[in-house]
Amino acid sequence: MKFEVDLRDLKFQLFEWLPTEELLAAERFADWDRENVEMVIDEALKLAQEEFAPINEEGDRTGIAFNDGQVTSPESFKAAYRILCEGGWVGCSNSPEFGGLGLPQVVGTVVNDLFAGANMTFCLVNVLTRGTAHLVEEFGSDELRELICERMYTGEWAGTMGLTEPQAGSDVGACTTRAEKQDNGRYRIRGEKIFITSGEHDLTENIIHAVLARTPDAPPGTRGLSLFIVPKIRIHDDGSLGEANDVHCVGVEHKMGIHASPTCSLSFGPNDACEGVLLGEEGQGMRLMFQMMNEARLEVGGQATAVAAAAHQAALSYARERLQMRAWNAKRGEGPAQVPIVEHPDVRRMLFSSSAYVQAMRALLLKTALYIDKTQVTEGEERDRYQGFVDLLTPICKAWASDWSFRVTEWCLQVFCGYGYTVDYPAEQYLRDVKITSIYEGSNGIQALDFAGRKLPARGGAVVGELLGMVGETAKAVADDAELGGPAQLLRQALGELREIFGEIPKRPDGPLVTVLNAVPLLEMFGVAFAAGFLLDQGRIARQRLDEMLAAAGVEADDAEARRGFLEGSAEAAFYHNKVQSAVHFAYRALPSVSALGVSIRAGEKAAMDALF
Ligand SMILES: Cc1cc2nc3c(=O)[nH]c(=O)nc-3n(C[C@H](O)[C@H](O)[C@H](O)COP(=O)(O)OP(=O)(O)OC[C@H]3O[C@@H](n4cnc5c(N)ncnc54)[C@H](O)[C@@H]3O)c2cc1C
Repeated sequence: MKFEVDLRDLKFQLFEWLPTEELLAAERFADWDRENVEMVIDEALKLAQEEFAPINEEGDRTGIAFNDGQVTSPESFKAAYRILCEGGWVGCSNSPEFGGLGLPQVVGTVVNDLFAGANMTFCLVNVLTRGTAHLVEEFGSDELRELICERMYTGEWAGTMGLTEPQAGSDVGACTTRAEKQDNGRYRIRGEKIFITSGEHDLTENIIHAVLARTPDAPPGTRGLSLFIVPKIRIHDDGSLGEANDVHCVGVEHKMGIHASPTCSLSFGPNDACEGVLLGEEGQGMRLMFQMMNEARLEVGGQATAVAAAAHQAALSYARERLQMRAWNAKRGEGPAQVPIVEHPDVRRMLFSSSAYVQAMRALLLKTALYIDKTQVTEGEERDRYQGFVDLLTPICKAWASDWSFRVTEWCLQVFCGYGYTVDYPAEQYLRDVKITSIYEGSNGIQALDFAGRKLPARGGAVVGELLGMVGETAKAVADDAELGGPAQLLRQALGELREIFGEIPKRPDGPLVTVLNAVPLLEMFGVAFAAGFLLDQGRIARQRLDEMLAAAGVEADDAEARRGFLEGSAEAAFYHNKVQSAVHFAYRALPSVSALGVSIRAGEKAAMDALF
């Protein structure tokens, strides 16, 4: 099946909803304007459809090969990787000073949406590459920056993120990899890391590992961790490559999905000859690594959104072709014996819900990316304000999008039904591939603990209070709209519920337990409210555009037949109409869950804790 994208929605969110053009006017983005950004997006779509999507199934079926410590990628992946690098896509939102293209994050997020939807597995290595390079750019010495960054942002070398060990999964502080300072100022690294994405492969001649390790006498837990840059092949001061650095791939995982992405067990320094360079100071490792983790969390939310979007498009194409049963309202003996399943109400419900959730995930991701860009073009308090929004929304983007993408992808498989369960269609691969997004980069349970325990109470609740206030303003703005008024009322109720619960929990004696026991529902409740608010805001804009189009065409607002005819004859009008309907649908389907989830929290229900396991 051809990989399809709702480019109209991406461009609407980017240019009609978000103030991206205003952002492009900033000095930092002087090289970019709307016209050349749109050209970049169109080119990315072409690559996604012509180069990356066609090899997605092959990557799944062939996977990687592992022999004698070497990982071999599918040939098609090697060719596609060269194309990716030639276009400068690896560092498309990174610093031009070091070989990046310098696009705003919000545009980079759209590019990644296109690439990850086409082939999430193929794109994985790039997430770690730009993340590692950005660590070096921010925290490395001038020399290290010169040696490494450009070669990574251009994709010549790849990167990895080395946190996980057998006993240290979510519990990163249990890491036991050791790092001992040598006379030459470098560190000798010894230890075992597991589950390292792209820890070994043949796409690039060198791999730069960002590794958390513990120096002698360091305190226990995360406070004792330091961050090291450990190349697979040593790098001379002039940039040429030297001998291998005693880093070995000792195994790869056999997994449910993302088969062409090597998930590696790495042994550092089994011959006591593995050297690394410290980033920052000893003991700062976790703090520095959070930069890479937060960037990767947003990218994982983006992968989740992209795969759900691709699954939706595939299901929609299938539903337009597949014929089954009579129309639900056809009279006996009238009309065709079989109609496309897209006409059946239950199939429409699955398709429209999946579309609305994808738009909601995309809205969360793009809004957060825009706030990141805002931190780059503002200073002082204004900058801190945007950073507060980014911090609060990051775990929602990661966890809310990845949880819902799995469900959306499952709805889409259900549209294919029996055929979706076979390997003849991409639905089952999408479902298997996307599951990892709720697991890696910190499980969604851990994201929720971070959200409820640290992000919600940040700055005395001022950050979340301001965001809820902004969403509340949207509800007010559409309160009198014939179609959006009902959803706005639901949103106001949900916001009231959230404010009450959020204000009440800290005062309760069982507050700490309620918070950890309900961290996931709390993240879900806030995620739904923000998503509904963003979609309602988009619906408000779409409503204005649609009304203008109807007025220009002389269609009376209350002439339902003429209106329907107009919508059927104009793809643009149909888009705005569907945008309004998406906001309505999402609000009615998702917002009631906020008060439903609140019931258990208000009651202080803790049966799971009282149960005996
Ligand atoms: C395909 C793949 C690629 C990966 N890539 C990388 C990579 O590149 N680099 C890297 O460093 N790691 C990587 N990982 C590791 C990944 O980040 C971890 O799997 C993840 O962080 C969770 O660790 P764990 O699997 O050991 O689960 P555990 O930590 O054992 O957690 C199991 C369950 O317990 C829950 N849990 C744990 N502690 C708590 C708590 N205190 N409170 C509430 N719930 C808790 C978790 O939410 C989870 O549901 C990858 C993993 C996979 C499968």
